[in-house]
Amino acid sequence: MPLTQTANKMEFTLEHRRYRLAFTVPVRTAHGPWPVRQGLYVRAVNPDGVEGFGEAAPVPHLGGETTDDDVAFLESLGGRVDESVLGWVPAELGALRNALSCAFGRPHAVAAHPSLGVAALLPAGRAALDRAPVLAEAGYRVFKWKVAVHPAPDEMAILDDILARLPSGSVLRLDANGGWDRRTAESWLTLAAERPVEFVEQPLPRNLPNLEDFLLGLARDYYPVPIALDESVSTDADALHWLERGWPGVFVVKPALLGDAAGVLSRLSKANALVVFSSALETAVGAQAALRHAFAWPGKRMALGFGVWPLFTPGLYDGPQAGPFIEAADVERIDPSIPWNATNSPAS
Ligand code: MG
Repeated sequence: MPLTQTANKMEFTLEHRRYRLAFTVPVRTAHGPWPVRQGLYVRAVNPDGVEGFGEAAPVPHLGGETTDDDVAFLESLGGRVDESVLGWVPAELGALRNALSCAFGRPHAVAAHPSLGVAALLPAGRAALDRAPVLAEAGYRVFKWKVAVHPAPDEMAILDDILARLPSGSVLRLDANGGWDRRTAESWLTLAAERPVEFVEQPLPRNLPNLEDFLLGLARDYYPVPIALDESVSTDADALHWLERGWPGVFVVKPALLGDAAGVLSRLSKANALVVFSSALETAVGAQAALRHAFAWPGKRMALGFGVWPLFTPGLYDGPQAGPFIEAADVERIDPSIPWNATNSPAS
């Protein structure tokens, strides 16, 4: 057997452990409450005994991948695999492919920045008014407000009150999570135009008929405030599709959900796309991998959507301390074997 082939066929011993972690505070989504984070870890050990870890943390309402699907696929592989399995993972199991790729120790790019800014998350509705000054005092200058939670006129009526509570030079992101209709989206974009709104995120649901042409029209012609896509670009295929359509706005990328995060990000980077790196509410193992992509991103720096922790009890499952900045050194300090060792439940 030629040497090169032997090198390519390095066999790993593969194990997985499933986790079920209650969020310390149940997460509210556009699809209702999300009380328990499910996912799994994989550990791959090469013939020299070097171990690598990965996390598959699919989001139930994004893309349709579930941990049950991931477990079933892993169990079909058996306990000894080589890297060619990456070519067999079904496209819809992006989070699992991502986990395996990390566990095989695919080299990751080196951090280009020592620290990156983080966007502060404001609660929906009037609660944002009390929270904004507290977060401003803590040093945040980029804020994100969940909208489309209450009737649009009520939310529009307090936009200026929220902006007035932010320090000068601050910007506000408006995240509708696909909760508006076309007219409401246009009203918001008109209102935001004269104000320090950094972008309007996912104004319309991803499955709206003729969504693409409508959004491209809005983004290109009428309104100065950029539009960001989040739910619309949650898989590799979606992100590449919008890139090919020439999307001129922001891509909110959750690296943990991309089967080939490095490949997709390389394409986005070559196109000079605007990218906001965002958490999929994964645990520390997946967060380390996702944040490494963010720190290596060569394009324009935009505040991270990783102001999410603490999420879990015990805290060993949480990603790095989220303040106004995340430090690259804190990302590298994460030891994936700690959550792995704490997760003793049977795999299925
Ligand atoms: Mg979003």
